[in-house]
Amino acid sequence: MSTLKPETTETQTTGPSNFVRDIILEDLKTNKYGGRVHTRFPPEPNGYLHIGHAKSINLNFGLAAEFGGKCNLRFDDTNPSKEETEYVDSIIEDVRWIGGDWEGRLFYASDYFGQLYEWAVQLIKAGKAYVCDLTAAQVREYRGTLTEPGKQSPWRNRSVEENLDLFERMKAGEFPDGSRTLRAKVDMASANLNMRDPVMYRILHAEHHRTGDKWCIYPMYDYTHGESDSIEGITHSICTLEFEDHRPLYDWYLDQLGIYHPQQIEFDRLNLTYTLLSKRKLLTLVQDGHVSGWNDPRMPTISGVRRRGYTPEAIRNFCRAIGVSKTNGSIELSLLEHYVREDLNQRAPRVMAVLRPLRVVIDNYPQDQVEEMEAINNPEDASAGSRKVPFSRVLYIEQEDFREDPPKHYFRLSPGREVRLRYGYFITCTGVVKDAKTGAIEEIHCTYDPATHGGNAPDGRKVKSTIHWVSAAHAIDAEVRLYENLFLVENPNEAPEGKDFTAHLNPHSLEVLKGAKLEPSLRGAAPGSRYQFERLGYFCVDAVTTPQSLVFNRTVALRDTFAKIEKAQRVDAPRT
Ligand code: ATP
Ligand code: MG
Repeated sequence: MSTLKPETTETQTTGPSNFVRDIILEDLKTNKYGGRVHTRFPPEPNGYLHIGHAKSINLNFGLAAEFGGKCNLRFDDTNPSKEETEYVDSIIEDVRWIGGDWEGRLFYASDYFGQLYEWAVQLIKAGKAYVCDLTAAQVREYRGTLTEPGKQSPWRNRSVEENLDLFERMKAGEFPDGSRTLRAKVDMASANLNMRDPVMYRILHAEHHRTGDKWCIYPMYDYTHGESDSIEGITHSICTLEFEDHRPLYDWYLDQLGIYHPQQIEFDRLNLTYTLLSKRKLLTLVQDGHVSGWNDPRMPTISGVRRRGYTPEAIRNFCRAIGVSKTNGSIELSLLEHYVREDLNQRAPRVMAVLRPLRVVIDNYPQDQVEEMEAINNPEDASAGSRKVPFSRVLYIEQEDFREDPPKHYFRLSPGREVRLRYGYFITCTGVVKDAKTGAIEEIHCTYDPATHGGNAPDGRKVKSTIHWVSAAHAIDAEVRLYENLFLVENPNEAPEGKDFTAHLNPHSLEVLKGAKLEPSLRGAAPGSRYQFERLGYFCVDAVTTPQSLVFNRTVALRDTFAKIEKAQRVDAPRT
């Protein structure tokens, strides 16, 4: 599998230019970290990773690879919860699939609980932390607002001895959940709310997925994050913009403790149109049954888009193209699909599949004759070669490729009209058979021109349409699942009055076609294999498929709306 390593070994010229990279280049020039580049990707194991995380993975692992540095995978598991092991496993699989290589440096913030406790004691001894008996609601009330300073806790000036004793007893489990906290003594009047004596530890008698019941006090994320970076010797701690206001607090802890100090750099979160990128909201979709699970192919999770047929290369190309910046914005979903198409166009073999079959009988074709027609596997890749596709007297074509009464500009098959069957023959429609009761079309009859073998007319005559087909006697059955956007509006985060984001769900995001007919070369196609169904789009064999019942997911349709938008708006082509 390919990884995030750049294509050449020549450093400093291969990665996409951006402001984070510029900071690293400058630090290398001034030898700020002795020439080291050490980043990390720090997910909280409270859900599955999504496309937004892919941007962060790409940035962190990509920069480390480019500069011959390292990138750790670290779970920020400060919040005990029952389901974390499932999330940890999925995150490990997903980071690896995107191409991140942590070279064995897999860490957990919970590995540092002992050290963090010792550092908390050190801060208490230095008069920089205190045990506070205010309830959570009171802490909030005392905190003040953006326009008003906070009020000091009545417990702020406890003696060091009393604080040490109480903190020790908090750890020993003497107090109930929520009854006390350990807080940093910073500045209740600070303009930055994060600096108003933030909570460092809370009491939580809860089982942790790694430390079990060893602890009943847990460090807050803000107290844990900077120290974890420090312990691991991270040089550039790259995170999203919402942590900008937390940086002074991280710096304060590191300075008070007098320990090694990484540089935090913030970049913009990825937002995609018609998509939600929030683990909390994605969890709601899973729990309330709006989707079949975290890996439902409509989900923007890594496991969802993998099952849908996206490739890691396409996701990486997309991440490179969007780059990073200092302001949050929104990226068109069609841009992501553009990169998926671009990649699959190069690698996906072409096959013929009929999603909604219509029977076609070629009356002048010999009853028992079968011809093996030569079909090109991938016009983009000569090395992919060709295959044989059986042709016989009874075929299936798409229902929409026939109109009994064709509208203007409809050039596909209709009574009396001649079209080309791809890699087959020219055929002309001679009749329509309908159900006597319902009037529904049951099959159509055609004649073929034997001189047009392979789909070429020796007399040079033209037809206006080429359609795909499969031989009825040789076709294999499949279920094909078509997907549309999960949400109907560009920004599903903005809930309508009195409702939540699920009000924007698209009721037609999934369409299941049970009766699709595929050319026989697809027999036994392995889960995860990707194809272009000619004229229809890219499709991927679903994970739940069996040799007895093939299931395909449509990865993306063929039409590239982004290319059209680009042309219409004359915007600059994205970097590739
Ligand atoms: P969510 O809101 O989905 O829960 P999070 O930021 O809480 O996301 P974490 O597990 O803490 O999720 O994220 C791990 C890393 O991925 C962090 O460095 C975070 O900044 C980054 N990240 C998360 N979401 C995005 C996004 N949409 N775009 C870019 N980076 C992201
Ligand atoms: Mg989070």
